[in-house]
Amino acid sequence: MPYRSSSWIARAEGEGHLQAVTLADGQRTECDELGVGFGLLPSTELAAALGCRIDAESGAIAVDIAQQTSQPHILAAGECCGIGGADKALIEGEIAALQILGEDIRPLAARHRRQLAFAARLHDTFTPRPELLRLADPGTMICRCEDVSLGRLRAEHGWREAKLQTRCGMGACQGRICKPIAHELLGWHAEETTPREPLQPAPLRAFVSLRPAAEETPPAPP
Ligand SMILES: Cc1cc2nc3c(=O)[nH]c(=O)nc-3n(C[C@H](O)[C@H](O)[C@H](O)COP(=O)(O)OP(=O)(O)OC[C@H]3O[C@@H](n4cnc5c(N)ncnc54)[C@H](O)[C@@H]3O)c2cc1C
Repeated sequence: MPYRSSSWIARAEGEGHLQAVTLADGQRTECDELGVGFGLLPSTELAAALGCRIDAESGAIAVDIAQQTSQPHILAAGECCGIGGADKALIEGEIAALQILGEDIRPLAARHRRQLAFAARLHDTFTPRPELLRLADPGTMICRCEDVSLGRLRAEHGWREAKLQTRCGMGACQGRICKPIAHELLGWHAEETTPREPLQPAPLRAFVSLRPAAEETPPAPP
């Protein structure tokens, strides 16, 4: 397959299944599989619930060079502190662990700086370009859990009102997918809300395995 830079999928078509895509330059290509990526967002629900400061610009947990959050005794490491790849996550985990053990983190500083510089380069290079924000039309589904289109959202004046009037963000993903997209497309300001449990969607078997201690089998008598 040729690699095309400065190119993106403008339209996907098909009857019942994908059959063709149209590129931004108007070229149409038949295909039956399509993968698209519009960037990654740090997962900050747990830290926000614990009262840690979230950096408004990056949307990541705010940490200092020792991975210390704004809350005493809470350290954070990896993508939740900023998207930057596995190597950045690993070294930040190492720094956090050394910090907890009271050991010297300075030997890791240079490697960490390199990874932060790589993360900044990644961000500059792959930030979705403005044209991508103009691909959605009024019929484009923004909230896939509750079937809310961009056209319906345009009639609302903010996230809270959109939730009340259209149920956008009230479905299974609880706004994790549609909220950042709606804010980006409609220019709504992010509202500070404390995340509610469950912080991440979890399979039922995860809850079944959390039996209360009282239900545990009592120890056999001596
Ligand atoms: C498709 C894909 C391909 C990638 N390819 C590359 C690559 O080629 N090279 C590269 O460098 N990087 C790659 N990355 C990025 C790399 O995976 C991440 O940088 C790395 O995994 C970040 O590590 P982390 O520990 O911060 O987060 P994660 O590995 O995501 O670990 C976070 C963990 O926390 C758990 N968790 C989250 N919330 C909660 C909660 N509330 N309660 C309990 N547990 C919770 C999650 O289940 C998860 O296990 C890729 C990522 C993706 C998605």
